[in-house]
Amino acid sequence: MRRSPLVDGHGRVIGDLRLSVTDRCNFRCQYCMPAEGLPWLERAEVLSFEEIERIVRLVSSMGVRAVRLTGGEPLARREFPRLASMLAPLVDDLAVTTNGFLLEREAAALVQAGITRFNLSIDSLQRDRFFEMTRRDALDRVLRGLEVLAQFPEAHPIKINAVGMRGFTEDEVLPFAQFARTHPYEVRFIEFMPLDADHAWDMDKVLTGEEIRAAIHAVYPLEAQPREPHATARVYRFADGHGKIGFINPVSEPFCGDCDRIRLTADGKLRTCLFSVGETDLRGPLRSGATDDDLEQIIRDAVWRKELKHRVNEPGFVQPARTMSAIGG
Ligand code: SAM
Ligand code: SF4
Repeated sequence: MRRSPLVDGHGRVIGDLRLSVTDRCNFRCQYCMPAEGLPWLERAEVLSFEEIERIVRLVSSMGVRAVRLTGGEPLARREFPRLASMLAPLVDDLAVTTNGFLLEREAAALVQAGITRFNLSIDSLQRDRFFEMTRRDALDRVLRGLEVLAQFPEAHPIKINAVGMRGFTEDEVLPFAQFARTHPYEVRFIEFMPLDADHAWDMDKVLTGEEIRAAIHAVYPLEAQPREPHATARVYRFADGHGKIGFINPVSEPFCGDCDRIRLTADGKLRTCLFSVGETDLRGPLRSGATDDDLEQIIRDAVWRKELKHRVNEPGFVQPARTMSAIGG
């Protein structure tokens, strides 16, 4: 059954769902989780595969064509490839964002399940610095997973995401540029956002995309590519034709104007912005007999109130109670 498009109160049509399948993670990245982890959701609080499938089917009937599976660490959820294979037929584009720790084992199953886009988070290409940032000595293992994945033509183009933090990422910039020039991966730097559990974020810790771009351009000249509608990244190609590099600049250059995304947390809360301070419960209605029409109305009402823009750069900004790992980045 086709339903009418999902539109917010500012006229933006929603086409993309970021779906967190778990709040748990096997890493403890400094910009996301505290060293000791967080109080995890109880198993019963987390949406089942069938509940997730029902929501994806419903939003897909309202025009959501892209779903990105995330977390926490999505690959750490038991039987994750089975969930992916349930969702793949419902959308045009099924993507995953992962830290890659379990990729060596899971890559083949994920490709087979129908995931077509892979983003891997790697913040340093040096073992000790990777350990410092993620608090896990796992760079070699992640790179092995990446190599296994890269053998599947269907998995390309693979994207590598690195969070840009002042005082850390400066030394990573040129190695990542060289990596992007010599491998078939698009490296993208993401500005550090105020979604860390330690509440250590401040503007001075954001290494902006523009600073990184300028540092790379000085050594390897870059040429801007046209921005795709709704894209989060500004993409550049190396002028000599050797690869691409991207910049996701939500802090210094917000891209809220044509944002077409909504998010669902692992415990079934609909969020209309990464920085929302309120959220809408779908799990309660799902578990108490709501019909698809009831759920559609709840989703439409929430989406209608989608924030015009985030207010990270404004006085009085309030960091959401949930961290990135509990929202689903
Ligand atoms: N665990 C998976 C991973 O790390 O790829 C998926 C979830 S993680 C929350 C999704 C993305 O959010 C990762 O690329 C991570 O680097 C990014 N991220 C986490 N905290 C962030 C923050 N405070 N600012 C910017 N990006 C952040
Ligand atoms: Fe885990 Fe991803 Fe958060 Fe790192 S960024 S702690 S890998 S959820």
